[in-house]
Amino acid sequence: MTNQVSNNTESSSVTVTTGHRHSRSVSTSNSSSSSAYHHGFPFFFSSRPSSSAMQLVFFAHEDTSESTRAALVQTATQLGYTTVDVPSLEQASSQRAATVVLLSLGDKMGRTVLSAQDQLAPVLEPIKRIVKNSKKQTFVVVHGAGVTQDPFARMGLTNCGANMVTDNLEALREALSQVAQGAAQVCTMPPLVCSYCGLCFDKAEALVNHVPLYHVNDNDRRDTCGICNDNVRQKSWPRHIHSHKHNDMPRKHGDARKKHHHVQKEDMPFASFALVLIRRPSDGKFLLVQEFSNEGYWMPGGHVDQGETLQQGGIREALEEVGVHVTLTGILSLEYMPLPTYLRITAVFLAEMTDPSEPNKTLPDFESVGSAWVSLEELKVLNKMNLLRGKEPLKWATYLTEGKPVGSMEILPDFGYLYTDVDDDDDDDD
Ligand SMILES: [Zn+2]
Ligand SMILES: [Zn+2]
Repeated sequence: MTNQVSNNTESSSVTVTTGHRHSRSVSTSNSSSSSAYHHGFPFFFSSRPSSSAMQLVFFAHEDTSESTRAALVQTATQLGYTTVDVPSLEQASSQRAATVVLLSLGDKMGRTVLSAQDQLAPVLEPIKRIVKNSKKQTFVVVHGAGVTQDPFARMGLTNCGANMVTDNLEALREALSQVAQGAAQVCTMPPLVCSYCGLCFDKAEALVNHVPLYHVNDNDRRDTCGICNDNVRQKSWPRHIHSHKHNDMPRKHGDARKKHHHVQKEDMPFASFALVLIRRPSDGKFLLVQEFSNEGYWMPGGHVDQGETLQQGGIREALEEVGVHVTLTGILSLEYMPLPTYLRITAVFLAEMTDPSEPNKTLPDFESVGSAWVSLEELKVLNKMNLLRGKEPLKWATYLTEGKPVGSMEILPDFGYLYTDVDDDDDDDD
């Protein structure tokens, strides 16, 4: 079944097979061949005659094992997606309702750091085209262990419009399930329209689920919320949409960020943050969050919520942004900074995964696009390529690798609850 075609040279030849029947080898030595790659590919495609059709277009690189192919297709079909052959990708991406394009690249592609972009060249152009032709209404998933954990491959794929890069079947199942739920509620006379792609939904809940899943990495500026029609800035859009999650009724922008009821010990309000550097002892890599809106990689972390300690805030942010439970093992920094209108406290913790076998996050949502394990060397390159949201991960990874001291968790003063009570989204978190 699997052809013996090498994909490791610069002028690579990539074979993509579909399902169990077809295979084709196409030279991809330059960009002009992308249409050849694109044109002749048979692939599975599914369609239902109803408005809630759930369609799966499935590609598999030759490196993808038969068992993986079967598992991927089965994951979709179990949720009600069906697959049939169609002659071209364009045809698939112009279908309405829930169309999912699933590309499996096997485990090897992306393993060689920095050559990933060359390896991926034959895939990136078709992804761009699918996204463009479908007006972002197609959900594009790239599956493969190599590309998922390679920060450069992951960034390259998502920046071309791939919605999700994953090596985790459970995360894939959850994404396809959410796409299907949205499709079930798609209507023709919409009260709610997604301002990114034009898909419409009967219920606010469906739009609230749809936007972060499909568009959390979108750079396009959106000024108007489809739910409440308020103006929202680009950066805060995913957070704004999320503010509707527990309140589907239209409301004024800002309600979600109204001040907490508590009174501080001091009159001056404060904002406190917890950042977490998660290190894997086995290989010394660091787990970084891929921030939304193409902001780059960063350390997991954020505002400490009401009722949380700094430690609890850090643990929660790690779970939300990179999807793993962590144990805080030390303090890298604790900064107390009085600003003109408020006090700012920032803690930087060192942490390890509580369960080293737990998969890191690959399901996009309003918190992040996903996550990746990154070495110090890769961090340096990411920094040079301007693919870090801020320099903190490089700073602290370097600090740690140089063997500089880490404070014991026991020296952390008992601040009590240091939740944020000012909205400082306008500030640069750097
Ligand atoms: Zn949309
Ligand atoms: Zn809104």
